[in-house]
Amino acid sequence: MGDIMEIAFISTEVFPFAKVGGLGDVSLSLPLALAQLKNKVSIFMPFYKSIDKKAHTIRKYPKWEDFSIKVGETDFSIGLYKAKYENLTVYFIENEALYGRDGIYTDKTGEGYKDNHIRDIFFSKAVIEVIKKINEKFDIIHINDSHTALTAPYLKTVYNNEEIFKDTKVVLTIHNLGSAYQGIHEAIEVKTAGLSYDYFYQGGPFEYYDKFNFLKAGIHFADLVTTVSPQYAKEIQTNELGEGLQGVLSASKDKLLGIINGIDTNIWNPETDNHIPHKYNLENIKDKLKNKKDLLKKLNLNADVKVPLIGMISRIVDQKGFDILSYCFNDLMQENVNFVLLGSGQKRYEEIFTEFAKKYPEKVAVITKYDEELSHLIEAGSDIFLMPSKYEPCGLNQLYSLKYGTIPLVRATGGLEDSVLNYFDDKENGTGFKFNDYTPSALLNTVKEALKIYSNDKEWKKIVKNGMSLDLSWSASAKKYLDLYQSIL
Ligand code: ADP
Repeated sequence: MGDIMEIAFISTEVFPFAKVGGLGDVSLSLPLALAQLKNKVSIFMPFYKSIDKKAHTIRKYPKWEDFSIKVGETDFSIGLYKAKYENLTVYFIENEALYGRDGIYTDKTGEGYKDNHIRDIFFSKAVIEVIKKINEKFDIIHINDSHTALTAPYLKTVYNNEEIFKDTKVVLTIHNLGSAYQGIHEAIEVKTAGLSYDYFYQGGPFEYYDKFNFLKAGIHFADLVTTVSPQYAKEIQTNELGEGLQGVLSASKDKLLGIINGIDTNIWNPETDNHIPHKYNLENIKDKLKNKKDLLKKLNLNADVKVPLIGMISRIVDQKGFDILSYCFNDLMQENVNFVLLGSGQKRYEEIFTEFAKKYPEKVAVITKYDEELSHLIEAGSDIFLMPSKYEPCGLNQLYSLKYGTIPLVRATGGLEDSVLNYFDDKENGTGFKFNDYTPSALLNTVKEALKIYSNDKEWKKIVKNGMSLDLSWSASAKKYLDLYQSIL
């Protein structure tokens, strides 16, 4: 270690420019932490219409002349914009036809755009063309998820003779392996992408049950593959959670590693958080209650602060455990507890939970939109944070919750398993509550057990303190990424 590295971080969502989920958070905070460790880090992302040029002082790249690349038979122009964000350089790749629309991946109804594969192919290739044009040599090109996975096969096949990439290594991080997120498309898209059918054969790098799997191609061609927690790195090699790629992943196990995400403590810290009305820390933890009071009022819930409040902030999708939660929700409401859910996603669950809010107006609040500010108040004002995920590569909200003294109650999977120490296993050091079986009864019983502990103020405070005392910042994890980069250079 020691030398300054030049790192290009490629992502289709980067907070605060555009964010849908955890990928957006990581795509800012990991680059920041890497830059903090004295590396030169640039981010590349699409220039979505929703990104505010003025607010972020985004300028056209000096003397840039748009040029086109082909995706299939169509020419797509590449515009380039640039901004400084702290000590990062952020490049925005512009194409009106692909990014001049309201959503990031989905339209207003939550449906994925029909041409998402075209957008992914375009971006994965455009990034390489832009790097060539601005003529900057990177040691590491760090790509993320299926959206940018094709950058790996491009670099290792189509562009493998380019001088500028001679010493460049490609790292792919999997933030979500779910089959819906792998980028599985018709075989014909190999041609659309301008890649070679030589890699498309049964069991080959591109092929997945007769289709073209972008993520699989990325895994095959990347020099290193990481995922966002050690536990998830193990789980994705199993039939249960490998989402069909377990074979490829276990075959790649020598280049596969899990590194847990950190949190950006400039943004997520109850001591300095400007989104919450009452800042607090361990010494004046009483002020957490003031936030709870404000939150209950804002949500029009039963105003008794003694009643435990369970919070959830989540994409409302199968992955996050909404099926088992909806099955036991009426039973849960028999307990003396309030519940707030902030999130949006699958209509079916949005409707079920909106109905619950109508049925239990004093106990349940459901807000089906994206609201950054409210998400901070929910973290600060809740007592328990619920994450009953079916699988969870890392999960960020349990980390925010630990920091905010909001005790996570989680299913023991992926990053939730790695980051929460079960109070019932270790009463001295426990930081939260965990259950194993993905069933409504396991979830319900664990909530009931947790509520019993809630009534014991001294025990509860101990758990709160254990969580708030943890160092959850990015610095340790960023060092691990640097060691990894170093190991392949
Ligand atoms: P995932 O990436 O699978 O969605 P994570 O827990 O890793 O899950 O990250 C989710 C991120 O998105 C967190 O920062 C969370 O606070 C945020 N988030 C999700 N839904 C909303 C919402 N409706 N409003 C505000 N923030 C949200």
